[in-house]
Amino acid sequence: MRILVVEDEEAIADALVHILTKNKYIANACYDGESGLDDALTGIYDLIILDIMLPKINGLEILNTIRNQNISCPVILLTAKDEISDKVKGLDYGADDYVTKPFAIDELLARIRCLQRRNGIVNNDNLINFSDISLNIQTYELSCMENSLHLGLKEFSIMEVFISNPNKVISKEKLIEKIWGYESDAEYNNVEVYISFLRKKLNHINSKSVIKTVRGVGYRLEDSK
Ligand code: CA
Repeated sequence: MRILVVEDEEAIADALVHILTKNKYIANACYDGESGLDDALTGIYDLIILDIMLPKINGLEILNTIRNQNISCPVILLTAKDEISDKVKGLDYGADDYVTKPFAIDELLARIRCLQRRNGIVNNDNLINFSDISLNIQTYELSCMENSLHLGLKEFSIMEVFISNPNKVISKEKLIEKIWGYESDAEYNNVEVYISFLRKKLNHINSKSVIKTVRGVGYRLEDSK
């Protein structure tokens, strides 16, 4: 799951990225409203943590703009104690939740998990499921019946994209943007290597789920029956 942090206090933004990464999310930070909006509009994020008071473009304008562009990923606003009217406006503009600064990191992490569940991304056991497989988003464990094994970070992130988009074709470009970031120099070759690892692992746990190649387009997770 990829999270964007838009926060102009760089120490807070960097600490959040560090903690989110430790908690197995892929996270990026933007330190002003303009770059935050640009990044948010790429549509590659699964959740955005958005400060309201930002230089150049404030958080509420960013929220309003992305919602108008039909970007529907969950947004958690970071607000100061005395910004009650901003909280109300934020929720009206389509924010999903907010935390008031200074906040406890555990509370923010709990709210992120809550939004993942509410959006049907994960269930109460931190599992996402497809056909005969389940993926634990806390432990990176991929399971089929009594068989299970651990995935590396990239393998896990790719599998998460597939299970969250069952039966949909995912292009290699999309995987590169989601997993490596859209400014990275990762190539198709990198994707192919990880797909081949995942195929071996699905095979190893005796799953009937397969990652099919859709020629010229990308890949699709399917139930081979
Ligand atoms: Ca701020």
